[in-house]
Amino acid sequence: MQLKCLGSSSSGNCYLLENKEECLVLEAGIPFKEVKKALDFNITKIVGVVISHSHGDHAKYCDEYPKAGIPIFKAYEIMTPNLEFGNFLIRPFKLEHDVECYGFYIMHQDMGRLVFATDTYYVKYHFSNVNHIMIECNYSQKIIDNRNHQGETVNALRDRVLQSHMELETCKDFVRANTTSDLYTVTLMHLSDSNSDERLFSEEINNIVAGAGTKVYVANKGVTIDLDRLPFH
Ligand SMILES: [Zn+2]
Repeated sequence: MQLKCLGSSSSGNCYLLENKEECLVLEAGIPFKEVKKALDFNITKIVGVVISHSHGDHAKYCDEYPKAGIPIFKAYEIMTPNLEFGNFLIRPFKLEHDVECYGFYIMHQDMGRLVFATDTYYVKYHFSNVNHIMIECNYSQKIIDNRNHQGETVNALRDRVLQSHMELETCKDFVRANTTSDLYTVTLMHLSDSNSDERLFSEEINNIVAGAGTKVYVANKGVTIDLDRLPFH
């Protein structure tokens, strides 16, 4: 199973979980034509699309999928304890954003158990024996404070961010609480353009999981990550 990151920022979020036969699309924040291109136009392998919340950078292009006969699940409109798209088993769970928002616990025989959580200032659940974590790591409070000290007026932005997105320390706590020897990968998503530091964030998460042999990635646009079930152990 491969994770393809087609976008992971406020200008558009979209991720593909793809093996030879199937593809599950996470978020519809970039045009469908870019998804088609990433799949070499083999869209028959898309088994479904799941969307966390209604903000444009996650949901703007969601209407394009049903037009192509592809089923779509908007967790924020219809609640269901679990659903199946192809061989993907998906369980939504509630997140803490400024609108109704859900994360997804996704199981597939090729990758094991994956947790996907973005646009949330906190995740209140603990997951046992998860193999892959995709988690928002949006900003660092220290970076925002430094910018303020330097006279930049980032208060309005800071207030919005603090109520709705995940800070580095919260992300570290989440990863720490869910790290076992079964955790193969951690992928950091939705880094803020101005209030994040990719190198520092990966280093700090690496320090937490290094003992478990877990690989840490940042979901930059265009990145492909191997999620096979036993890649490193
Ligand atoms: Zn949002």
